[in-house]
Amino acid sequence: MSTVDQDLDVPAGIPPAAAAAGVEVTGARLARVGDIEVRRLLPLRQRRSVGAWCFVDHYGPASVDGVAGMQVPPHPHIGLQTVTWLIEGTVLHRDSLGSEQLIRPGQLNLMTAGHGIAHSEESPEDHDPSLHGVQLWLALPDAYRQVAPDFEHLTDLPKLRAGGLGVTVFAGSLAGAASPARVFSPLVGAEISAAVDARGTVPLRPSHEYVIFTAFGTAGADGTGLPPGSLLYLSPGRESVAITARGGARLFLLGGEPLGERLLMWWNFVGRTPDDIADAARDWARGQRFGAVPGYRGTPLPAPPLDPVRLARRA
Ligand code: MN
Repeated sequence: MSTVDQDLDVPAGIPPAAAAAGVEVTGARLARVGDIEVRRLLPLRQRRSVGAWCFVDHYGPASVDGVAGMQVPPHPHIGLQTVTWLIEGTVLHRDSLGSEQLIRPGQLNLMTAGHGIAHSEESPEDHDPSLHGVQLWLALPDAYRQVAPDFEHLTDLPKLRAGGLGVTVFAGSLAGAASPARVFSPLVGAEISAAVDARGTVPLRPSHEYVIFTAFGTAGADGTGLPPGSLLYLSPGRESVAITARGGARLFLLGGEPLGERLLMWWNFVGRTPDDIADAARDWARGQRFGAVPGYRGTPLPAPPLDPVRLARRA
């Protein structure tokens, strides 16, 4: 997906709850990606990443019956991996490596931008009537952020049980279950589902920090209710978290070793310095570095105007 705004920092929507130390609940900012309304949960002004997770958009469930649905024209990325995960619906991915891949619920699209890639995301012409999913970004650690671009589509992902909950590990590892997707720092991305009212204890790594959010239904963690649109942060040092969910609920657990690097995010770029961003914007405008997206019928997205002074202030 592509962001439309320059300033990615989300103001804290909800003041930190009266919760235990190292626990914080924040609210999403509503944003639009084309015609799709999204709840943007990360980044936060006070927290640009959680582990390597630096961007969390949750959209739907929304009816796209008889309408175009998701239509995100070709746009560039650097310095990150995009994780596309659907709960309902279908999305067609194309990229400048020549990949063309329809994604369905329970499958992973992982695109490594590295030095630079361009992609488009669309509801296909004969798409399902509803759309519900998440778009996540993983910041590449400094040592890997110039790697060659890559795209993976994975349908066979490890699943485990935590009490009455089902857990699918789509990225990184959890409790010995490891996703085959290539990531570049110790982390986890998992979807947690409850077929019926259920509870379970999910093991955590004390060296990792985590966020948890509900994508659908009624659920909570460690006694804190988490309606869709709220994000629970857990600081390092924990061995587990207790999840309670009504039947049908879906949650996400994202975490990892704190990155320890100050990210500079602008539009669809994750860099470290204003020059990283300005160079990428210039190359996109000139049609260099990122390549074209074969098969896409339409005009690529132009970058928004870049304000060097404002960018330097945020670096
Ligand atoms: Mn994108």
